[in-house]
Amino acid sequence: MTRKIGHIALVGAGPGALDLLTLRAHSRLKDADVVLYDRLVDPAIVDLARTGAERIYVGKEVGRCAWPQGRIDRLIVAKAKLGLRVVRLKSGDPSVFGRACEEIAAARAAGIEVEIVPGVTAASAAAASIATPLTERGETDSLILTTGTARPGDAAPDRARLAYPGTSMAFYMAVQRAAEVQADLLAAGAPAACPVDIVERASTPSERHVQTTLGQMSQSIAEQGVQNPAILFIRYPKSLAAALSGTARIIAA
Ligand code: SAH
Repeated sequence: MTRKIGHIALVGAGPGALDLLTLRAHSRLKDADVVLYDRLVDPAIVDLARTGAERIYVGKEVGRCAWPQGRIDRLIVAKAKLGLRVVRLKSGDPSVFGRACEEIAAARAAGIEVEIVPGVTAASAAAASIATPLTERGETDSLILTTGTARPGDAAPDRARLAYPGTSMAFYMAVQRAAEVQADLLAAGAPAACPVDIVERASTPSERHVQTTLGQMSQSIAEQGVQNPAILFIRYPKSLAAALSGTARIIAA
């Protein structure tokens, strides 16, 4: 008897809205024997799996892991070794702050085929919701996807590198770290007038948009009670730098 060979798919569930799921993600879900999912994945998406599929909640949230990553890695490998088709559903795109590297490495180490199914990342969905594109010709020509939260013990990303005219930043997992992000960018020379858009729960019925500036960002978050999950967009448009350097010339003159 030939042994069935298992398969692991790391599948992007998108930002929340069911109809932002890709057709490929839908197809992997329908074929799955086991589905592992976490907190940010809508139950309606998990329900697309066939009735008999095993569903395992591995509830992870920012800074708190109900299931340590190593346990998830071992479980997906163990299930695939039984010859099962395993879907590891991840919010947004598995490749963006999705801990996908660990799961890919675990699958490869066990000799199991692993596939990534991309999804709509939160920054794309949030930008669409507020009809403010991630890049704008002539204004913001570099797009940075970055995080407010580092692993305990790791240094925060070097934000001084981000404070340049022409940069559009999307901060993930940053609500609790907004004051630190704001202080770092201002200290690195980003103007307080940089426009900030905060999109909470993009693509869901409870989506919310808060507009502010870099100088007011953490105050606005506190006043409006912004909660995770949210994306903080901070833009440093070239025209703002030009306008401010014009002002500086006038003051200096
Ligand atoms: N892989 C995911 C990101 C996981 S990290 C992706 O590609 O989108 C979790 C962070 O993603 C949250 O803290 C939040 O910053 C962001 N996020 C996820 N879903 C979101 C949503 N619907 N609206 C706004 N931000 C979201």
